[in-house]
Amino acid sequence: MGRIDIENLAARIEGPVLLPGQKGFDEDRTGFNLAVRHRPEVIVGAVRTEDVAAAVAFAAAHDLPVAVQNTGHGFSVAAEGGLLVTTGRMTAVRVDPQTHSAYVAAGARFEQVIAEAARHGLAPLNGSAPHVGVVSYTLGGGLALLGRSHGWAADRVLAMDVVTADGRLRHVTPDSEPELYWALLGGRDNFGIVTGMEFGLVPVARLYGGGLFFDAEQTPGILEAYGRWTATVPDEMNSSVALIPFPDDPQVPEPMRGRHVWQVRIAFTGFSEDGERLVEPLRQVGPRLLENLRDMPYEQSADIHDDPPVPMPWAADNAFLADLDGDTVRTILEHIGSGTALPAVVELRHLGGALARRPAHPNAVGQRDARFMMAVLIALTGESTGGAHAFLGRMFKDLEPWTTGRFLNFMGHGDTADQERTHTAYTADDHKRLTALKAEYDPRNVFRHNYNIPPRTTR
Ligand SMILES: Cc1cc2nc3c(=O)[nH]c(=O)nc-3n(C[C@H](O)[C@H](O)[C@H](O)COP(=O)(O)OP(=O)(O)OC[C@H]3O[C@@H](n4cnc5c(N)ncnc54)[C@H](O)[C@@H]3O)c2cc1C
Repeated sequence: MGRIDIENLAARIEGPVLLPGQKGFDEDRTGFNLAVRHRPEVIVGAVRTEDVAAAVAFAAAHDLPVAVQNTGHGFSVAAEGGLLVTTGRMTAVRVDPQTHSAYVAAGARFEQVIAEAARHGLAPLNGSAPHVGVVSYTLGGGLALLGRSHGWAADRVLAMDVVTADGRLRHVTPDSEPELYWALLGGRDNFGIVTGMEFGLVPVARLYGGGLFFDAEQTPGILEAYGRWTATVPDEMNSSVALIPFPDDPQVPEPMRGRHVWQVRIAFTGFSEDGERLVEPLRQVGPRLLENLRDMPYEQSADIHDDPPVPMPWAADNAFLADLDGDTVRTILEHIGSGTALPAVVELRHLGGALARRPAHPNAVGQRDARFMMAVLIALTGESTGGAHAFLGRMFKDLEPWTTGRFLNFMGHGDTADQERTHTAYTADDHKRLTALKAEYDPRNVFRHNYNIPPRTTR
């Protein structure tokens, strides 16, 4: 790829075309997870669908692999060489109150959709952090705050505009291209770059939500109690529990400072009085350091998890769990808490309800029978940097008797993101079908800097 080639590419692209060392190159390749950075030969900072199509066609003609990045929250494999398309400049969001649906361009974030939808008493099926990109979150399944009440975000997708590996722009609906529709929702950028997405919204304007915070040492039984409690609640009760090692830092509020804290997060879509009654058994488990449950407009729902919006380096992994019985809890607790030197945040999300139902239009999002999804995130600072991946490996190995596979959206990067582990995000049949479709839509594996599904040559 020479200077003339790059000039030809730049002539067809409205956004910036950036080479290593040029102003803006580092900003574009850097994402939210500072532990990893793409090192492409060239970046196309797309501002419109045509830019994405021209970039992929250029890459195909020059035999370059293509990676795509929006916010960088979901890094998997760092691109070494090739072409990186960044979509953060494509931020259009439109909400249609008549059809209860939204259209977003590739770079939109949930905070935009939440604000726009709330004007009409509607909400998207966003996750815990509003600064996450809508498109990739949804292509990975989209485990929403309201998942038990309303299902996977992917199940609400009505249409996608996608540029496939041949540089062609396709409008994909469940009727127009059912196979590609099925594969994209679960298979993500293995099948192309989605430049726009249309999806259904839910009529939710408020909820009863917030958290109950317990000192992990004072209330050791919280995880087991939480597991038992989840078996008693209705589908309107969405919840998770997380162990958070709060640093001994003056900026951390006093009751949490320097402690390991279990936080039970609640997002209940029914009446507040019913929510109050339903959480009462959790209060009986032990004294709370803090509690901030309240009736809230959906727009404030990011307060429930209060995920930090500041980029940082981290390693992560996850597994779906068939259950949360005494043995599972004991195995989890053997690895975490004040006994470990690593600042591991461990989160268990309660599944079931609408997450267990089959969608009207099938997709490749798996694990609908699992009861919990457990994710572990370790901030990579100082001593934790070396041991984090080994720690994650040991912990999930010990949990294998209870795990049923992995969730694409929390799979982490590097060691946890290879083809073999990616396989575990799908059922064996779905993975086989995905590899066959990959051979059809991307036979040269142009899109390989990702949780990769390799093309299969025979069906
Ligand atoms: C703080 C935090 C909270 C989170 N909460 C939740 C949650 O509650 N539920 C949940 O399900 N997930 C959650 N996630 C995971 C998140 O959904 C994924 O990491 C998602 O991939 C992030 O998308 P992004 O565009 O922001 O990130 P990016 O890193 O920009 O994208 C991730 C990957 O998606 C692919 N991709 C990006 N854009 C496109 C495109 N236009 N077309 C095709 N493929 C594309 C690429 O492979 C890219 O590497 C959370 C992550 C973080 C860091």
